Amino acid sequence: MSEAPRLAEPVTGHCLCGAVTITVTAMQAEVDVCHCAMCQRWGGAFFAGVKGEGVTVAGEEAITAYRSSEWAERAFCGTCGSNLWYGFLPPGFGIERQIFVDEKPDWYDIAQDSPMMTAEQTVAEAMAAGFSFD
Ligand SMILES: [Zn+2]
Ligand SMILES: [Zn+2]
Repeated sequence: MSEAPRLAEPVTGHCLCGAVTITVTAMQAEVDVCHCAMCQRWGGAFFAGVKGEGVTVAGEEAITAYRSSEWAERAFCGTCGSNLWYGFLPPGFGIERQIFVDEKPDWYDIAQDSPMMTAEQTVAEAMAAGFSFD
């Protein structure tokens, strides 16, 4: 898969109450979308995330992190409850790939033509990268 172009200007976003501000440098002009049951429970629907070279977080004292699995934590603002690392979506972004597509609920359709991975494929790739699942 070829890498998406990166944005020249840093992108800054913030939570609902403004206590937490996140700035991403050299953000990739693409999002990763996850349809798994955990992301649905966490955010109410699928999760879309972005990647960049550097991340600066202001207002860290307001952040609560929840260790949702062996390999990941999910952070949110302790004041307003906004999920963090989420919501930096300038127009024109494509989707890099979508994972856990077989866990997607029936009430929305995937219209984008982006690479898709089932739960089995997603877990197999993570295990090949050295993660273990008990
Ligand atoms: Zn907040
Ligand atoms: Zn997920």
